[in-house]
Amino acid sequence: MQNIYGMTRQELENYFLSIHEKKFKALQVFEWLYQKKNTHIESWSNIKKEIREKINENFSFEMPKIVRIEKDSKTRKYLFELKDKNFIEAVVMYHDYGISLCVSSQVGCNMGCAFCESGRLKKVRNLMTYEMVCQLLQIEEEIENRISSVVIMGIGEPLDNFENVMNFINIINDPKGLAIGIRHITLSTSGLVPKIQELKEKDIQINLAISLHAPNDELRNKLMKVNKVYNISQLISAIKDYIAYTNRRVTIEYVMLKGINDSKECAIELATLLKGMNVYVNLIPYNETNHMEFKKSDRTTISKFCETLKKKGINVTIRKEFGSKISAACGQLRSKEVEK
Ligand code: SAH
Ligand code: SF4
Repeated sequence: MQNIYGMTRQELENYFLSIHEKKFKALQVFEWLYQKKNTHIESWSNIKKEIREKINENFSFEMPKIVRIEKDSKTRKYLFELKDKNFIEAVVMYHDYGISLCVSSQVGCNMGCAFCESGRLKKVRNLMTYEMVCQLLQIEEEIENRISSVVIMGIGEPLDNFENVMNFINIINDPKGLAIGIRHITLSTSGLVPKIQELKEKDIQINLAISLHAPNDELRNKLMKVNKVYNISQLISAIKDYIAYTNRRVTIEYVMLKGINDSKECAIELATLLKGMNVYVNLIPYNETNHMEFKKSDRTTISKFCETLKKKGINVTIRKEFGSKISAACGQLRSKEVEK
């Protein structure tokens, strides 16, 4: 049985047409689900009983369960248990400008980046669309507040779960759905070149973030296995293409690993690589985990790296650190749970 929270409005319209009903019913259902947030289908007063019964027969309303919450002053981290007893996590961050939510897109990840906890435990399966939508719904209910931006940067490689992630974006962006502005949605990828091309053709105005993390193939091969399939020059030309086509600035993520990729030479090489592109670099202080030998670069090293890039004319910011005390690095809470 399909889950109602995995249906785009268009898919619901098609469903209603298929049962010989008017397609505007889909709009009404969306209003109940996402605006009134009312899951008691018996109380959906503008939908007649026989249709409600059909909906009940054809769709499940079940949501993943929040089984653990860890909090500090500006962060809340949620562990969800899925129907098949898998675990995923999502993180809420309180900023001056609003509340953002980092969602997972897969159970585990197959990309196997050397520094990443999510990759250590391998991919079990893709998340279904509703399992992504429900992260948002459940958490808005728990914090009793509205989420203003969504980043798809939790566990998993979103472009390896392309269709479900696209439907997720569609539902949360729908003005009759959760109405998150398209420019407030960010998708981060390790660099699946053909999928970046596919995304480009969708021409949706989301923010695209690319996990580059190294300025040359030799180093990137060591950190990210995906580089052996799509190397830096292929990735850079896909990004250039994407920018030219969508007219959107792209974010380059660069995790700062002590003694690995944080030298002045690396900064200069990175600046040369990105010269003239409409990108901005986000330097990410590494979140250390128990299972990996990588350390986070010193503050002064990060500042110097940032200065070098600036001097070379590259737009750059240092990501504010959130939740390192509550194991907020992507995948840490899940791996604790799995290994228990
Ligand atoms: N799979 C996608 C999205 C999820 S990871 C991707 O790789 O882009 C989101 C970001 O967190 C990536 O840039 C990733 O490299 C980074 N990351 C992973 N583990 C981290 C850690 N321990 N500390 C800081 N950033 C980390
Ligand atoms: Fe997967 Fe992203 Fe982690 Fe790499 S950094 S293993 S792509 S989740």
